[in-house]
Amino acid sequence: MTSLTSPDYIGRFAPTPSGHLHFGSLVAALASYLDARSVGGRWLLRMEDLDPPREEPGAQAAILKALESYGFEWDGTMIRQSERHAAYAQVLDQLFNHGLAYACTCSRKQLEPYHGIYPGLCRNAGHPGEDAAIRLRVPELEYHFNDRVQGQYRQHLGREVGDFVIRRRDGLYAYQLAVVLDDAWQGITDIVRGADLLDSTPRQLYLQELLGLRQPRYLHLPLITQPDGNKLGKSYRSPPLRADQATPLLLRALRALGQTPPADLDDATPAEVLKWGSAHWDATLIPRTLTLPEALLR
Ligand code: GLU
Ligand code: ZN
Repeated sequence: MTSLTSPDYIGRFAPTPSGHLHFGSLVAALASYLDARSVGGRWLLRMEDLDPPREEPGAQAAILKALESYGFEWDGTMIRQSERHAAYAQVLDQLFNHGLAYACTCSRKQLEPYHGIYPGLCRNAGHPGEDAAIRLRVPELEYHFNDRVQGQYRQHLGREVGDFVIRRRDGLYAYQLAVVLDDAWQGITDIVRGADLLDSTPRQLYLQELLGLRQPRYLHLPLITQPDGNKLGKSYRSPPLRADQATPLLLRALRALGQTPPADLDDATPAEVLKWGSAHWDATLIPRTLTLPEALLR
């Protein structure tokens, strides 16, 4: 007998509770879900609640409710990054004690002239680890990977990123560290997420290499850009996903992903739309880029 779920594919959706889900998050949830389910894979849910000050009260519950009303069913219990601090601390201490990471006391003002690329000012300062940001030393090397939609992506860590923060001065762990540890811990084989994270991936590849973790496959979804070229997102006040719009918005998201659902799904339940989507999923049809009118009208 063939088993229903295959350990060969474990995917995930990893929302940040800084706000409600919007159409862009729905596209990410849907694509990661269908990519997993279409091959009998598992689909996990992880709440990326690393930054309590930026968390919107009630956002976690609203995200779960939206996912449920849109017909998504995840495997196992959801994990929260806020419950994983001990694991992050252990790795961070290891990196620090081995000299792979160091404490940085630079102020924001001091770093202003460098446009986000840390120039290594504290590299050899030997600051103690308390009351300081912790930065990971990056090698003077180019990291590259082959994305299933975006193709070859390359980035020189030394020149384009610089030593990056893995724990902030206020003690909060950085996304880059947490995401790599959690994806490995949860056995994630395939990462499907928005292309806004494309330029984070080389940092994550470096962390995986450093920690001896397996590299997952990557699929970065097209970002929806406004007619003015700006990215559609939380800053554009995209409306929250309404429960009574589940079927039409799922169909719109499917079309944005290059899939061609038939007209008779217009009256289907969200679960039926997902079922159709998983039976007909073709990731090779996903467009590399998408403008807002395309996303809405296709
Ligand atoms: N939590 C991130 C977000 O909401 C996604 C992280 C990821 O998929 O790697 O944008
Ligand atoms: Zn510094």
